[in-house]
Amino acid sequence: MADTALMPIPGAVDPVPVAREVTPRADGKIDVLGLSRARITELFAEAGLDAKAAKLRAKQVFHWLYHRGVTEFEAMTDIAKTMRPWLAERFVVGRPEVIEAQHSTDGTRKWLLRTADGHDFEMVFIPDADRGTLCVSSQVGCTLNCRFCHTGTMKLVRNLTPGEIVGQVMLARDALGEWPRGSMAGLDADEDAGHYSSDGRLLTNIVMMGMGEPLYNFDNVRDALKLVMDGEGLALSKRRITLSTSGVVPMMDRCGEEIGVNLAVSLHAVTKDVRDEIVPLNKKYGIEELLSACAAYPGASNARRITFEYVMLKDKNDSDDDARELVRLLKQYRLPAKVNLIPFNPWPGATYECSTPERVKRFSEIVFEHGISAPVRTPRGRDIDAACGQLKTAAEKKSRAERDREAAAAG
Ligand code: SAH
Ligand code: SF4
Repeated sequence: MADTALMPIPGAVDPVPVAREVTPRADGKIDVLGLSRARITELFAEAGLDAKAAKLRAKQVFHWLYHRGVTEFEAMTDIAKTMRPWLAERFVVGRPEVIEAQHSTDGTRKWLLRTADGHDFEMVFIPDADRGTLCVSSQVGCTLNCRFCHTGTMKLVRNLTPGEIVGQVMLARDALGEWPRGSMAGLDADEDAGHYSSDGRLLTNIVMMGMGEPLYNFDNVRDALKLVMDGEGLALSKRRITLSTSGVVPMMDRCGEEIGVNLAVSLHAVTKDVRDEIVPLNKKYGIEELLSACAAYPGASNARRITFEYVMLKDKNDSDDDARELVRLLKQYRLPAKVNLIPFNPWPGATYECSTPERVKRFSEIVFEHGISAPVRTPRGRDIDAACGQLKTAAEKKSRAERDREAAAAG
């Protein structure tokens, strides 16, 4: 990125490089993907349209972008024919570049994507009988180094922009062929109504569980999810979106207030020692602080419970006592909670093993016996390294291999 600033995070968390909101391209055109309607209006006005025309054109373009998936101004048929080349000379509608698309034997799909300035990141689509979930990345790499997570071994390159985040959803809809077809003039009222029905759709849910810690890129994640939830935008309900955090306590309240999506918390351990080891952020924001922030999470209720993710690591966090302590903590903080047990997904060089299936089953039963739902998440896409915690881009893998070779040669 030509120009990055450091994003301050309350609580003196390590600052993270932030890309500029409007990334200038080599050809001087501006990419409008990821910008709000208000910002597009401003840019159209700056380019010379009068206030009224700028507002109208921005509304039209926005609709074509997010409701129809159109990337060419020429295809925007309700915009005057002479206006379309004017727009195309100054603006573009971008998408992250697809470097590689992989298909798992279980139907899971993984895409390796590249930003305009050459950084690679991944997104995963997980189809199920009753839903289709897109797992979206928020950063290239992650600063947090959870010990069981492959992404955590990458050094952070930078935060993704709103355009790169919402661009993942747009790309997935492109790939799944889910945009309404036909010219806008010929659309029936229902198809063109602002709402997005999940009926019959492949992509019904979004989880911010790809690469990176979304609450370390709060503004961009919020702005991108606003476009996803906007009735004139992608119009996906906030109830179908879940944001997972490793526990960035100072940002959790704002997440509930300003985004309002479902919350998932990567708890993974119930004692300070173990959580300090496997989720090092725990040294900054401990379990009590984290669970208090969960208890205060705006919008959480019995109808909208908080998901507690718990990765099952053999002989580390998987005993009967751990399960009972988990129940005790969730009850002590009166949390509307469900627990999601994630069998550890291995990756080259990982120092942990997955708990045995019997252990996972027993752990789940103990939590369940106390009235808290604790399903075991079925690993998906393991054969293409698309399962939880396996995301790490090839470029990074290669550079690591190269580093190793260099080290060997030097040593
Ligand atoms: N950074 C955020 C969201 C991305 S990770 C977070 O940590 O919550 C999505 C989930 O996968 C988290 O719960 C994470 O802890 C879990 N995970 C990471 N590595 C894993 C692995 N190797 N096996 C299973 N789950 C893993
Ligand atoms: Fe980052 Fe989440 Fe992986 Fe931890 S589990 S290193 S916070 S992506």
